Amino acid sequence: MVAMRILITGGAGFVGSHLAERLLSAGNEVVVVDNYFTGSKDNVSHLLGNPRFELLRHDVTFPLYVEVDAIYNLASPASPIHYQHDPVQTTKTNVMGAINMLGLAKRLRVPILQASTSEVYGDPEVHPQTEDYWGKVNPIGPRACYDEAKRVAETLFFDYHRQHGLAIRVARIFNTYGPRMAADDGRVVSNFIVQALRGEPLTIYGDGSQTRSFCYVDDLVGGLIALMENTAGEVGPVNLGNPGEFTMLELAEKVLEFTGSPSTIEHLPLPQDDPKQRQPDISRAKKSLNWEPTVPLNEGLVKTIEYFSKDLGTRVS
Ligand code: NAD
Ligand code: UDP
Repeated sequence: MVAMRILITGGAGFVGSHLAERLLSAGNEVVVVDNYFTGSKDNVSHLLGNPRFELLRHDVTFPLYVEVDAIYNLASPASPIHYQHDPVQTTKTNVMGAINMLGLAKRLRVPILQASTSEVYGDPEVHPQTEDYWGKVNPIGPRACYDEAKRVAETLFFDYHRQHGLAIRVARIFNTYGPRMAADDGRVVSNFIVQALRGEPLTIYGDGSQTRSFCYVDDLVGGLIALMENTAGEVGPVNLGNPGEFTMLELAEKVLEFTGSPSTIEHLPLPQDDPKQRQPDISRAKKSLNWEPTVPLNEGLVKTIEYFSKDLGTRVS
């Protein structure tokens, strides 16, 4: 593959920093823009010495003028507590950010990939979720600022594709975990691991019977790149995730087992509109991208626990 200059918005975040690493190691130049709302310079500090890496503080709700060959649009808080902290800004980031980055891609005539989400399916009545399912989203609930804004972003991507012939890619990302998740961002995998390592109770919301399917970050990054680089004409939407489905109770038990933590389990109220079940059907990604995840939950959890145990200065037993 010919080396390119690639823009990653939100590249100082959890997924973006892994994507930047992978694209750099393939010989590309990488430009990261981020406003550090949920990401941090720490996530990319190890890349700063690389002459092919550039980091810009920028908020994607404002236009951006750079010259690149491809764009990965990841800028958006992803965890419910962060995206609900300033819901208006969440919608602005996803909608105005999409408009600005699509405008940039249009001027440059370069491909652009959108980090969409399984949240476009809302609390799904179809299980597992296929890309042709339109979803069940509460448009006025606390999750709407994220879910609906991501849905509008998909609309914009497909309208730029139809109206302007833009080369788009839309990835619907399912719950992804791994090193460099923020310890305090409230997502379930980081919460449980951090709580277990600190000997605090693991907070299960509701009775813990709700399910999620967890994808290790290295697998997801491979899927994003496969989608961007595919020559089969796949624009998406494409589900990217690991179909292994677990209840939150099962996840908590695994985390307790792998950390050897004496922590107990505490049940807290289930947040409003919390989806009851979620599992990707990844047939499309398998067929058109020849992609599927390879890291099972047990293996990915062990790696993530190792990361947090160093990050928190504790030891894995
Ligand atoms: P993250 O919060 O770690 O990273 C998001 C990054 O975007 C952060 O660095 C943040 O500072 C930056 N950002 C936020 N608003 C911005 C703005 N206005 N301008 C510039 N930068 C801004 O989250 P993540 O898990 O790395 O998620 C990355 C992308 O993938 C997001 O778009 C998210 O919606 C999507 N996604 C992630 C998951 C997951 O499980 N990790 C699942 C579905 C979709
Ligand atoms: N959850 C939980 N305890 C926590 C954090 C989350 O039981 O400390 C539950 C949450 O209610 C949801 C699931 O775990 O059912 C996944 O939550 P997360 O915030 O990671 O992502 P979501 O898929 O809901 O966006």
